[in-house]
Amino acid sequence: MTKQDPRKILVIGGVAGGASAAARMRRLDEHADITMLERGRDVSFSNCALPYFLGGEIEDADTLRLLDPQTFWDHYRIKALPLHEALSINRQEKTVRVRDLQNNVETDMPYDLLYLSPGASPIMPKSIEGIDLVHVFSVRNVQDVEKIAEWLDTKQVKKAAVIGGGFIGVEVMENLVEKGLQVSLIDMAPQVMMPFDHDMAQFLHKEIVDHGVELILGDGLHSIQEDGVTLQSGKKVAAEAVIMAIGVLPEVKLAKEAGLAIGETGGILVDRRMRTSDPSIYAVGDAVELTHFQTGQKTKLALAGPALRQARVAANSENDMAEMVPGVVGSSALRVFSLNAACTGLSERACRAEGIQYQVAFVVPMDKVGIMPGASPVFFKLIYELGSGRVLGAQAVGQGAVDKRIDVIATLLRFKGTILDLKNIELCYSPVFSTARDVVTMAALTACNISDGLVKQVMFTQLRDLHEEGALIIDVREADEYALGHIKGAKNIPLSQLREHLEELPKDQPLYVHCRSGQRSYNAARALMQLGFEEVYNVAGSFVALCWYEYYQDKTQGRDPIVTAYNFE
Ligand code: FAD
Repeated sequence: MTKQDPRKILVIGGVAGGASAAARMRRLDEHADITMLERGRDVSFSNCALPYFLGGEIEDADTLRLLDPQTFWDHYRIKALPLHEALSINRQEKTVRVRDLQNNVETDMPYDLLYLSPGASPIMPKSIEGIDLVHVFSVRNVQDVEKIAEWLDTKQVKKAAVIGGGFIGVEVMENLVEKGLQVSLIDMAPQVMMPFDHDMAQFLHKEIVDHGVELILGDGLHSIQEDGVTLQSGKKVAAEAVIMAIGVLPEVKLAKEAGLAIGETGGILVDRRMRTSDPSIYAVGDAVELTHFQTGQKTKLALAGPALRQARVAANSENDMAEMVPGVVGSSALRVFSLNAACTGLSERACRAEGIQYQVAFVVPMDKVGIMPGASPVFFKLIYELGSGRVLGAQAVGQGAVDKRIDVIATLLRFKGTILDLKNIELCYSPVFSTARDVVTMAALTACNISDGLVKQVMFTQLRDLHEEGALIIDVREADEYALGHIKGAKNIPLSQLREHLEELPKDQPLYVHCRSGQRSYNAARALMQLGFEEVYNVAGSFVALCWYEYYQDKTQGRDPIVTAYNFE
């Protein structure tokens, strides 16, 4: 291309993927004529930070807007046109019909290359009675959160219902609580945050109810009234504001009507260079169908990082820098009050669905050296393939930097690493940040011990069944720890005295050994195994994970605790 013959590049969608594609395009082609259309009032705002405006952590809504149209022009010579909606694509003529929403004028804009990044819209089922009521909101853009904030303030709202316990629902719930509202969080699934396994979600459930939230699981929204919502069970929940966060649907109408191929998951079909079925049209972000890096299955993923990466690949593709997106693993993180949670790759649930034979190493190490101020435990689950030891995924919950630990695993996934690779990764260490054997290293060592046959384990989630079956559960914590709370019926033989009490233990019966976190009991299990006890199982996660895991379920299911007292430390 020459200066006389600039390429006409049209971008539809002016936020994460669209703005990134446009800016990358400019950096690679100074002469191109780039126009970015955005239906909404703002371009390039921080979707991910929207919930934090509701809680007041972000005080000024203006700061959510990262770049305005003038800056796009000044810095990039990109014509960013907010309040301009693309109505249709004429692929033969290579034009897009555009409506200027402010002036209600329609024009045809020509393109040589078209980039689609229309995102995904919140699901607002018309079939739900009351969905159009004035106090029902969704969270997608700056105007949405401004509208919610105004409603909360002008109506002096005291009670809100958040429908949907995914990322957006949980973040909005947290922020409404921070604002001082009484909040009900409602999800039809038996847990919040489906990318996490049920056991990890229990830690989040405890944190949520500890903050006074009414957490209602396993019950879907039936209808909405002016004074609240009715659930499928018939239960009524009072609310003066209702936030819908039950998921998003890729915006594919434009692409579909233009005859572009749509994938099996409902996203726009693209190749690994993000090209649609029309070679002049690329699509990126929440609207496209992706391939899962590990399973090869088609999937959708509404996350910002992948959208930005795809935008770069799509722009590179037309600038002699052909590159392929490698597929996604779904790495994500969120904060739930004082807990942080992060996950990457396949969960146990996903492994089961895929028929993958897997093993779990579950550890509860401290995030930094225990004597350092602020040190706190991390619940860390590592999932790896049986036999090959290939790491499949990980999930972490704790007060410290769980995202850093999950990022290590996400990196390993990209290189198809194994538990041995993980064990051998040299991580940085200072007591301020971590421990000399970091959380992920501890998980890898545990996984190696299991696969080397050095230890057999059961999970903390199995303790209730074992307790009810009358299994012999041995608590190897010291007597003072035991006195503060223990599994009913568990026999206390502290590790420090174990070798003097061997005659009290049967050799013809399985022994389930636990301590606080599973570390001391691993030592106990090793000793017992070498002293002639064959059926010895270390309880991964041990007492502390058990308490966190059981707490919410005990409270909500009205069941008898299997512990004399919970101990969450
Ligand atoms: P978007 O950024 O949504 O941009 C699409 C834009 O296209 C929209 O503004 C829309 O108005 C416009 N558009 C659609 N159709 C047309 C049309 N016909 N004409 C003109 N314009 C059109 N991801 C994370 O990774 N981490 C997080 O913590 C996180 N938190 C989030 C919190 C919230 C509240 C939300 C809503 C999202 C969050 N996400 C998060 C997801 C992330 O924001 C999205 O994955 C990302 O923005 C997708 O980029 P996109 O370009 O595909 O879509």
